[in-house]
Amino acid sequence: MSASRHPALSATDPELASFVAAEEVLQAQTLRLIPSENYVSAAVLEASGTVLQNKYSEGYPGRRYYEGQQNIDRVEALAVERAKGLFGVDHANVQPYSGSPANLAVYLAFAKPGDTVMGMALPMGGHLTHGWGVSATGSWFRGVQYGVRQDTGLVDYDAVRDQALTERPKIIFCGGTALPRTIDFAAFASIAEEAGSVLVADVAHIAGLIAGGAHPSPAGHVDVISTTTHKTLRGPRGAMLMCREEHAKAIDKAVFPGLQGGPHNQTTAGIAVALHEAAQPSFTAYAHQVVANAKALAAALLERGFDLVSGGTDNHLILIDLTGKGLPGKTAAKALDRAGIVVNYNTVPFDPRKPFDPSGVRIGTPSLTSRGLGVDHMPQVADWIARAVDAAAKGDEQALAAIRAEVAGLMAEFPAPGLPLS
Ligand SMILES: *Cc1c(COP(=O)(O)O)cnc(C)c1O
Repeated sequence: MSASRHPALSATDPELASFVAAEEVLQAQTLRLIPSENYVSAAVLEASGTVLQNKYSEGYPGRRYYEGQQNIDRVEALAVERAKGLFGVDHANVQPYSGSPANLAVYLAFAKPGDTVMGMALPMGGHLTHGWGVSATGSWFRGVQYGVRQDTGLVDYDAVRDQALTERPKIIFCGGTALPRTIDFAAFASIAEEAGSVLVADVAHIAGLIAGGAHPSPAGHVDVISTTTHKTLRGPRGAMLMCREEHAKAIDKAVFPGLQGGPHNQTTAGIAVALHEAAQPSFTAYAHQVVANAKALAAALLERGFDLVSGGTDNHLILIDLTGKGLPGKTAAKALDRAGIVVNYNTVPFDPRKPFDPSGVRIGTPSLTSRGLGVDHMPQVADWIARAVDAAAKGDEQALAAIRAEVAGLMAEFPAPGLPLS
């Protein structure tokens, strides 16, 4: 199978080719519920594997430090124009290598080492790069963190405001990596304005929902929008920074030459294609379907006695607190993996357990929606999860294997680009 799908790779490096082929089978046969993952289209896959790979292009379109940029300039300019159109922003930089370096560029643009920065705490759903201690952003800057309320699982905007007015951070990050609820960008904007802070919306997880109109947009509310391109936006692994004209120069200078060298042009091409796809009516339908599926899955999990952080979801993501099931998140995640259901273990807010063995698992619907599953399938998905968690509690490996076969059976009916058919 691998030889025909990747003939040159198989001939040159059969060992590596076999790993890729095995991954293709794994992705084809499993139900991928990791909310930060997706399946890119065949067009995005092709664009990301082109000879654009071969070029060095330090600088920006029309202002490069290398000759031979006639075509590269058009690729990058197209990606930039599409990003501006899709997100309704003045300026877009499509060069950040990924979400974490994109955020680091924001620090470089607006803060000095030692400055106070504010973001959501990692165990509350924030991202490492929002000033958390183990990240460079938490050791080079003074990170202060906000969280969610213990009774509701929601952000307490009054508390965030009080903290911001006390701390006067240079930068405030809103957004995160395990947030099942809508982010109120207008509320953050008024807080940042009062505190005199630069406001950054890190929409890495929800960029596709925003593009498809299934989550409010931060455009017009925040100074900078940071996003990855490979999560709900369904592009190649990469990132973008978008902002008002007044910040354009600072952002561009921070990305290059501040932080990075040459842009990954093959990735820029894939981003351009993904942005084109995200501007189509079919993507609007996709984004709404992701949310409808997540709500249906959340309802089906609640019916089966699962405890969900904040009681449900507004977006693509669900955080299950397994404390009541008497099973640690890691044990559950590993059992689900054996059952062909791929999730990640995750802290829940106020988690009494350690981050490396927390109380929850994080799931989401971007991938299964890309494969064409709909709300009618969600009770089945919830059922598998419930059975797998039960089986894990009893140590019933046979039951996990049976679920794995059922999952593979359904997934065979829903192919995805780049994957073998059976
Ligand atoms: C995924 C994510 C990032 C980091 O992206 P990488 O591409 O993994 O570096 C940053 N911020 C948020 C909110 C994320 O969810």
